[in-house]
Amino acid sequence: GTRIALFTRDLRVHDNPLLVGADQVVPLFVLDPKLNGISANRLRFLHQSLADLRQNLRDRGADLVIREGDPVAETARLAAEVDASSVMVAGDVSAYAQRREGRLRDERLPVEIAPGVTVLPPGAVRPGGGGASYRVFTPYFKSWERAAWRASVVSPRTIAMPSGIAPGRLPSLPAGESPDAIPGGETEGRRRLRAWQGQISRYDDDHDDMAADNTSRLSAYLRFGCLSPLEVALAAKADDSPGAQAFLRQLCWRDFYYQVTAAFPTLSTEPMRAKADTEWRYDEDGLQHWRDGMTGVPIVDAGMRQLRAEGWMHNRARLITASFLTKHLGIDWRPGVQWFFRWLLDGDVPNNSGNWQWTAGTGNDTRPFRKFNPIRQAQRFDAEGVYVRRYVPELKDIDGAAVHQPWRLPDSVRRGLDYPGPLESHRDEAVWLRD
Ligand code: FAD
Repeated sequence: GTRIALFTRDLRVHDNPLLVGADQVVPLFVLDPKLNGISANRLRFLHQSLADLRQNLRDRGADLVIREGDPVAETARLAAEVDASSVMVAGDVSAYAQRREGRLRDERLPVEIAPGVTVLPPGAVRPGGGGASYRVFTPYFKSWERAAWRASVVSPRTIAMPSGIAPGRLPSLPAGESPDAIPGGETEGRRRLRAWQGQISRYDDDHDDMAADNTSRLSAYLRFGCLSPLEVALAAKADDSPGAQAFLRQLCWRDFYYQVTAAFPTLSTEPMRAKADTEWRYDEDGLQHWRDGMTGVPIVDAGMRQLRAEGWMHNRARLITASFLTKHLGIDWRPGVQWFFRWLLDGDVPNNSGNWQWTAGTGNDTRPFRKFNPIRQAQRFDAEGVYVRRYVPELKDIDGAAVHQPWRLPDSVRRGLDYPGPLESHRDEAVWLRD
């Protein structure tokens, strides 16, 4: 029979179950105008990934059919046109994906759900073998690592596709917001994965060193499925260096938050622990300074400016900036979620909201009252101040770790800096930060 392979966030030909096991395949992507404007950065990355996927499919004798409109209506239309016997789509936990899946079934299309968005599908491992989901990471990781993973799917050399289908045009590449964003696509993702495998053994030592910038930067390729998470995990599992093992554990957080989201779909708006979510301060001015990277705390401002410049932020900086907003300024985590979501190339509901709730203490952190001291964090993870000077040019002439506490500089130096002092709302805290 003929299968419609409905691509969503699995924009790759390697390890993609959509492309194997049918007589004929019609690869389809539907551009839903509703998704325009959600994030210019991610929209651009998506379009780059689609262009690359189309090329990779053409190299295998097929094509990527592009349609614009409602994904369910367009899929149904094409299914009728080619007399498809099934529609295959990757299983996903977002509310949008769940609705799409339900509506495809309502159309009486024979829907097959493929694995591939995570290493293990949500629910594949459960605490004590019961029906609940994991809320704490470490026991999840232990089961996850031990579980039987599926074998990865070999990329087919040729893909049989019925002839005579109008491929449809990819619109011209939309502009992003971040000038230094990395480009999308499976080809670029695989190139980076290969390069990363040469560096992975150092990961346990320096993944927290903000200036060294030695993490994989694979997150956006995983977000859009340009890379298969299973393939990335298998590569790490095959390497027994401590670096590869630490990387595998980090990658498991991604699966962890997907299974949290499956069990707790309102993760982006509702606190997981309701009691922890009270008494946030309303402070529009503080929030705006935080967004702009103008809080007067250099390590926080550096992170927030990296976010805008690159559509990405180092994990340590994400922790520091999110903790600063919620625990120091006392501002609600939800506007933080939204601001990150606007810029991040890797932005998705499970990881963004899951990590924000962890940091704000409303989620599944086992130490919800943890409060990062941004200055101590800076001294530890940006010991020479290199990361701050890279992103906060106003401070580029301040040498060494002194850059982390401009309020301690001699008055004569400080007055010459075009850099804000601590926020009004943060003054009391700032007294404490001085020492
Ligand atoms: P590496 O250090 O190379 O890690 C490898 C992979 O492991 C990552 O690509 C990612 O897929 C996964 N990973 C690593 N850390 C985490 C984590 N804490 N949670 C979940 N997965 C992880 N990650 C996202 O993918 N999307 C988000 O929207 C997102 N929002 C975040 C918001 C906050 C407040 C915080 C503290 C973290 C957030 N993260 C998010 C997690 C993490 O910061 C990024 O995954 C990581 O920085 C991506 O860079 P990398 O690929 O170089 O990571």
